[in-house]
Amino acid sequence: MVYDVIIVGGGPAGLTAGVYARTRKLSTLILEAQATGGQLEWLYPTKSVYDYPSYIAIEGGELAELFVLHSRESGAELRAEEVVDIQRAAGGFTVRTHGGTVHEGRAIILAMGMGLLEPKRLDVPGEAEFEGKGVDYRVRDRHDFKDKRVVVVGGGDSALEIALEIVAGAKKVILVHRRGEFRAMEKSVEAVMKNPIQVLFNSEVTSLEGDRKLERAVVYDNRTLKKTVIDVDAVIVNIGFEPKSTPLPKWGIELEGERLIRVKADMSTSVHGIYACGDMVSYPGKDKRIVTGCGEAVTAVMSVYKYLKQPYWA
Ligand code: NAP
Repeated sequence: MVYDVIIVGGGPAGLTAGVYARTRKLSTLILEAQATGGQLEWLYPTKSVYDYPSYIAIEGGELAELFVLHSRESGAELRAEEVVDIQRAAGGFTVRTHGGTVHEGRAIILAMGMGLLEPKRLDVPGEAEFEGKGVDYRVRDRHDFKDKRVVVVGGGDSALEIALEIVAGAKKVILVHRRGEFRAMEKSVEAVMKNPIQVLFNSEVTSLEGDRKLERAVVYDNRTLKKTVIDVDAVIVNIGFEPKSTPLPKWGIELEGERLIRVKADMSTSVHGIYACGDMVSYPGKDKRIVTGCGEAVTAVMSVYKYLKQPYWA
């Protein structure tokens, strides 16, 4: 079968593109490599999302499930396959996936988010040794930190949201940030300050120690040069994620750097017939939010529709 549109990526942007493509009755295939629902499901299924309009708070996993349900109900076909190649073919494109399956589509929407992700590491002694034995990079279930003494490292949106997510159940939460101010949204900063979360600014974790499991974090104040040893049960390092590898340079699409796709206001890429949306696109003023990715997805679908209908659609 030749699909009208193949969407690569099953996160909020890709799934929204699926819903909107179906409102135009475009035959739609969505391919997702890691976890349908994207980062919501893979990265923080039990963390609450507070900035998706109409939900004052909703857990990442639940929101992901609703996105998937909506997309399926609309008639989009979802498959768990990792895309390894996209080639132009007569009448559109061929999309080859990891197992060797080839799908055909008249147009493509790329919505792969940040791709397959790898957490950034602190690269301090003890970190590798205690990975999975006290050192974590994401919170699959906040209940794992119940009654534990936890150090969260980082000062971005993710780190603060994690500290807020676990604070109710944890015995103690200490947020360690290398600078004197957070880069996270003010709303989260205010919530951190109101909650019983101890904040250590201008501080860096310099080593992690223990016997068979993590027991201590050594923290260094980069202004006073004072070292403090903190007894801990867990350290959650949340200093950003890096994409593992990207096939994008091979697909002949104009990029910004190595991993972001340069798009025009209509979400078109430099390749006629390929559109993109969500965390993987770059344009002036781009902001990485679930809701902006969804908005871009709608624009991408309308552009695909016009592309497929040309020259009959002005
Ligand atoms: P981020 O914004 O890149 O923040 C990473 C944090 O880790 C920064 O505070 C940084 O410190 C710190 N850091 C980096 N390298 C470090 C190192 N080697 N040692 C110690 N600290 C280090 O990453 P993120 O929080 O994962 O967010 C990624 C993107 O997703 C952002 O655009 C964010 O706004 C977005 N996001 C949005 C939401 C939401 O809308 N609710 C939620 C999560 C994420 P400095 O500040 O000193 O550089």
